[in-house]
Amino acid sequence: MRNSTVGVYVHIPFCERVCPYCDFAVIAAPELAAAQETRYVDALLHELAARSSVYQDASGSGRHLASVYLGGGTPSRLTPESLARIVDAIRAAFPGDGPLETTLEVNPSTLERSRLPDFRALGVNRVSVGVQSFDDAVLKRLGRAHRVEEAHQTLAACRAAGFPAISLDLLFAAPGQRLAGLESDLDRALEFGPDHVSSYELTIESGTPFALAASRGQLSLPDEDEAIAMMETIEARLRAGGFERYEISNYARPGFQAVHNRRYWERQPVLGLGVGAFSTEPPSAAAPFGARVSNVRDLRTYLDRIAQRRPPAAGPTEVFDADTARGEAAFLALRGSRGLLAAEFESEFGRLPRAFFGPAIDRLLEAGLLDEAGGGDLRLSARGRLFADSVFAEFV
Ligand code: SF4
Repeated sequence: MRNSTVGVYVHIPFCERVCPYCDFAVIAAPELAAAQETRYVDALLHELAARSSVYQDASGSGRHLASVYLGGGTPSRLTPESLARIVDAIRAAFPGDGPLETTLEVNPSTLERSRLPDFRALGVNRVSVGVQSFDDAVLKRLGRAHRVEEAHQTLAACRAAGFPAISLDLLFAAPGQRLAGLESDLDRALEFGPDHVSSYELTIESGTPFALAASRGQLSLPDEDEAIAMMETIEARLRAGGFERYEISNYARPGFQAVHNRRYWERQPVLGLGVGAFSTEPPSAAAPFGARVSNVRDLRTYLDRIAQRRPPAAGPTEVFDADTARGEAAFLALRGSRGLLAAEFESEFGRLPRAFFGPAIDRLLEAGLLDEAGGGDLRLSARGRLFADSVFAEFV
């Protein structure tokens, strides 16, 4: 299963404005000129044509396409015609007659709302709506372009357009946010009844306006105890609402786990197209554990490289050695609710996880951060889910 299919991620860097906490490869494009849009889409299609052969299988035929993820940035700022060009080209590049999850990230704005029926018509069957909070004061402090009323309207429009799966993003530990406010966000989210919820703690990324504000003491962020209480509340409320926490930041109703997102945790091939996109290449003779490629983050450089028929990679391909692959296999598996299955790990790396990570596993068990089953399978404990980054750091 690991290598028999491919997922394609497409990064669209344009946003109505750049949020002060954002560290993605984005540019503010309040008015996206048609020529700029066309040039970017043309470049994506050139990149697809140039790179898809790496994702052929050993027989030379393409891996079957399992998922397309249109992310960003704000991909719904592109017209339906532009997105249709991209999706059609990806479908033509890889065989596939099975179910194809096609996700579009959507931000709540009038422009995008009006395009939802056309996005559905071109084959998008899953939308991920960047709600972030149902509190206008929090949205304002986050520098978001939308307000709660627009989020409600966009969610309702997604329902009306008939998308079979609707996910929403919630941010927590935002400036000025308190536990009661987060509880209210969860209530509003559950009232809507999404199929999937992604919940991310705000992180202060260096080089962002928020990092500068934090260094000047101008951001009033929840302390660690309050952030932990928020994590516990999110898990408890969403579980009570019928969601499974199938990954550290992702919750789904039965049957609604994200096919594309799972590819990253399961180390399956992903072709990433566009500015700042990451790709995970399948194993080959030269890279028996696979490889990673990161594209340049600057739009002009990306467009110039494509125009000159040069690869848009920011640096050399990172070929995984066995150590790196084992570490990634361990911590990525631990992100998911299945955990790290000892027999699966042994079949890929020849020995059980304990043979490579014994002291770390013992430390984490002792600290109550991991649970171990009889056969050596490992999962994050309830406490481990609160301090997941510390657990993952033991494996990389
Ligand atoms: S809308 Fe999302 S991708 Fe765009 S700037 Fe804000 S956080 Fe970043």
